[in-house]
Formats: sequence, structure tokens, C-alpha cells
Amino acid sequence: LVDRMRGFGTTIFAQMSALALETDAVNLGQGFPDTDGPDEILDGAVAAIKGGHNQYPPGPGILPLREAIADHQRAYYGLDYDPNGEVLVTAGATEAITASILALCEPGDEVIAFEPTYDSYAASIALAHAVLKPVRLDGPDFTLDRDRLLAQVTDRTKLLLINSPHNPTGHVLTETELGWIAELAIERDLIVITDEVYEHLVFDGVHRPLATFPGMRERTIQISSAGKTFSVTGWKIGWACSTPELISAVTTTKQFLTYVNGGPFQYAVAEALRLPKERIAEVTDRLRAGRDQLRAGLTAAGLEPFACQGTYFLTTDVAELGYTDGVDFCLELPKKVGVVAVPSRVFYLDPGPAKTYVRFAFCKRPELLAEASDRLAKLA
Ligand code: PMP
Ligand code: GLN
Repeated sequence: LVDRMRGFGTTIFAQMSALALETDAVNLGQGFPDTDGPDEILDGAVAAIKGGHNQYPPGPGILPLREAIADHQRAYYGLDYDPNGEVLVTAGATEAITASILALCEPGDEVIAFEPTYDSYAASIALAHAVLKPVRLDGPDFTLDRDRLLAQVTDRTKLLLINSPHNPTGHVLTETELGWIAELAIERDLIVITDEVYEHLVFDGVHRPLATFPGMRERTIQISSAGKTFSVTGWKIGWACSTPELISAVTTTKQFLTYVNGGPFQYAVAEALRLPKERIAEVTDRLRAGRDQLRAGLTAAGLEPFACQGTYFLTTDVAELGYTDGVDFCLELPKKVGVVAVPSRVFYLDPGPAKTYVRFAFCKRPELLAEASDRLAKLA
């Protein structure tokens, strides 16, 4: 393995899911729902397979999906993207992010991203021989500090890679925070990659894409995927929307990563994106209830979580239970009470006070969250 990829090892999510299986624990580690998405979407995939859509789809993705993505952007955010040239279908948001970084970074270029940082970002930046410049979001609110953001800008800054709603903190960027990012990007002529995979999983407040800010559409690569919105994380259908120049650049690298992916699922997601808004709101409502249920369980266990406005995750500080390291806590937890969680320190270059932060996923059925809460109560 090349030097720059050493240290990435096996992802924390795979490690913790394996531990959950080994110990028969309730898995609140890796963020994936334990129920499938709406029936009509599942039926759409079966119909596409039975209907003979089983060969390579076109490079940019099937046209009905690109049209559905463009219509979704218009309906929810008033953003106009041309399905021919401004929309690219990818193997999940993960590939869209990696392909964007590989397309835009020369060796040594710097990418500013929030810390805690979603695990694939650091690895993708390393693949490109680029450099991650973290901007820390601190508890309890995980809001953006403008001075910290500005302090990371240098002559080598190429990209801002922002994620809102933010994994793992659950922070949803405010208008003010988005405004600072837009202002900086315009002033320094930077491109911004926005990871918006949790765009529909906002429980308090609203999600506003950065591309809706004046002057930002032309310098933003807006990325999302179907996994979270429709509870089909295994389908890996994602997309990027931007200008023809930027999408063409990303397509150049994307085509040699996977070429294409998920033909039949593309048909199903095209239908899913056209579901009435109320159907998508049902998923959001279910997750909001999950958040509140797990928050109550964690609080009863003596682990009052930080605020969470969106995503699948609650963060707690296990220092409250006397632990000095979240990794120790997460390794002990399955054996002690039969629950798996993720130590947030793996999302930091230097965790500081986050050394004792632990992330719990609440994208699970109420029965499972009740079981997890009963088990966690033994910690108190
Ligand atoms: N970005 C963030 C912030 C995530 O939490 C995830 C995980 N699901 C992804 C990207 C990856 O999304 P996908 O499965 O569509 O590749
Ligand atoms: N995004 C999910 C999480 O944060 C996991 C996805 C993955 O395993 N790559 O838990």
C-alpha cells in the first residue's frame, strides 16, 4: 500500500458493524436504516430489472434520472440545472466527492473541510495527493467559527468541501454561516463541493443549498444521493450538479473510477424523486421520532446528547460517565450492555475535547431503539 493511504485501514463503520455481528449487539454504529424505503420505489427497481434494464446505462446516467434530479432541484430549491451537461449520476455521493477532488486538485493543493470530517473525505484528498485543512466545529452547538475558517485559507487553497446537514454532529448550517462561506469562496475564487446527502433529513430548521446564494451556483458542485432520503443506502445512486465545465471535469475522472453503476436502480430513483413531498416528509418524521426516542434513552443512561438538527446521528460525551477515551467506551459497550456506537475521535486529525465524543445512529425501528435504550440504561 502506498504511504499516503497507510493509516486509513478498514473504515470505522465496517469495523463497528463487524463487532456488532460478533457480539450480537444492537448496531447503532454504521448509519443505515433497518427498514427499506417506500414499497413503490422497491417495486420500481424490480420492474426495471424484469423490464430488461440490466446493461450499462449511459455514462452521465439515464436521462429520466437526470431529468428527475433537475426537476427535484427546481421544485425544492428553485435551482435550474440542465439534465444534459449539468447533472452527472455517480456511484453514491462518495464517488461524486472523490471524482470532484481528483478532477480539481493538483498535488499539494489544499481542501478545507469541517472537522469532525466524514471518513471518506480525508482518504479521497490523500488519493489526490492534496492536503486536508480542517476547520473545527465545537460542541455543544457545532457552529462554524468564521475566524477559524478564514485562518485555514492559503495560496494553495483549491476547494471548500462542506457538509450540511453535518455527519456526525447533526449541525445544519445557518444562513449566516452559509453566507460566510459564499463570501469567502467568491473573494478567493474557490470552488465549493457541497455534500448534501442528508438534505431531506432536517428536523429543526431548513436546509438551504449553498448554490442558491448569489454568485454561488457557478462555483458549487452540489452533491447528494438517494441512500438517505429513500432509505436505500445499498443502492449507491448519487449525483452531482454544477456548470457544464465543472461537470465535464468531474465526468472525466468519474468515468475511470466506475464508468457507470446501478442501471436498474437509476430507474427506481428517477421515480422516487418524483414522489409527492409528503412521502419524503414521512421519512423525515419517522427519523425525527427516532432522534427523540434515542435522545430520551441516552439521557436516561446519563449521556445527555448534544443538539442535533438533522442527519441520522446523536453525539454524546462519555466523559460524563467517567471515560477518558471514546474508543475505550465503544470497545467496551458491546460486551457491557450489547450496543455498538462509533467513537467520534476517528473523524478528527487531532480530537482535543472530542476524544470522549461518541456517535449513536437513530435511523432504526422504534422497537430496536427501545431495546437499545433498555440496554443503555444499565450504564447509569
Ligand atoms: N457523505 C456523508 C456525510 C455521509 O454520511 C455519507 C454516508 N452515507 C456519504 C457521504 C456517502 O453517501 P453514499 O452512500 O451516497 O455514497
Ligand atoms: N455514512 C454512514 C455513516 O456515517 C456509513 C457509510 C459507510 O459505511 N461508508 O455511518
